[in-house]
Amino acid sequence: MKAVRLHHYHEQPKIEQVPEPKMSGPLDVIVRIGGAGLCRTDLHIIEGQWAEKSGVSLPYTLGHENAGWVQEIGSAVSNVAVGDTVIVHPLITCGLCRACRAGNDMHCSNASFPGISVDGGMATFLKTSARAVVKLNPSLAPKDIAALADAGLTAYHAVKKASPLLYPGTKTVVIGAGGLGHIGIQCLKALTPTEIIVVDRSPAALELTRSWGADHTVVADGKHVEKVLELTDGYGAEAVIDFVGERGAEQDAVKMLRRAGSHYIIGYGGSLNVPTIDIISTEINFIGNLVGTYNDLAELMTLTAQGKVSLHTAMYPLDAALDAIHDLDSGNLRGRGILIP
Ligand SMILES: [Zn+2]
Ligand SMILES: [Zn+2]
Repeated sequence: MKAVRLHHYHEQPKIEQVPEPKMSGPLDVIVRIGGAGLCRTDLHIIEGQWAEKSGVSLPYTLGHENAGWVQEIGSAVSNVAVGDTVIVHPLITCGLCRACRAGNDMHCSNASFPGISVDGGMATFLKTSARAVVKLNPSLAPKDIAALADAGLTAYHAVKKASPLLYPGTKTVVIGAGGLGHIGIQCLKALTPTEIIVVDRSPAALELTRSWGADHTVVADGKHVEKVLELTDGYGAEAVIDFVGERGAEQDAVKMLRRAGSHYIIGYGGSLNVPTIDIISTEINFIGNLVGTYNDLAELMTLTAQGKVSLHTAMYPLDAALDAIHDLDSGNLRGRGILIP
């Protein structure tokens, strides 16, 4: 089968023929990929940022944002059947550790992460497990919803964590109106009555956010922190949901926080340097977000089926993976890039 394989860090991946995955355990599920989302994390992987954390041995297949149809199931799999349409939770989890029993799939102590630590879904087939697959209505096309498996899930997870704080009258800043931001805005609208302020460098991207539920838009032109403070009566926002997390956005986010406000970090690549006295004297909070739970993904699929969350995607054949990577890297990708085998 064809797969997008990373051979060396700091070099573009190669599209090449590799053997198909083989069943090895009773809970294995092999999915025929209908759509594999391209994520900024794939760029960070190529840059070597994940080399130490993931411990993956090269070469391997990228792709952690997958949906498709069940191709083959192990003898103990009872929740899906061959031919079912599925979206794939990004982690393969054990179901037995304390985190799994609490529903926190992303913290499973025995997890593997296809596309990060083992072969992923930018390929014809992906091997995952019964615990990772969410069965979908067959009317849903995997290529249309694949991006919900990671981009959507991470955005939903962060918004759901923030939602108890976002009562009527609160204000939330969303930094970044790209692949994740546009889902985050729709999730905020679906789950909370908060007033939404979106910050992005691109006026065109900001224009689109109005139809997803943005109440105010601010161009990141160097004066954006002041503009956000004006829109929040000088106090700052109860929550800043930072889908960028690099190139200064992470520092801007801190300046946009109200006292006791919370900075949800989703995009990454930069670093935060905040004097501890500022943290204690204002009781601001910093919250990391790593994908989300299986139930988060199932809930997000419900919102999608209800038409409350829709995705803006750009489709590429798997063979054009390098074009997609280039477009994402150069800022020419609107919405989420999806590779179709
Ligand atoms: Zn990702
Ligand atoms: Zn576990």
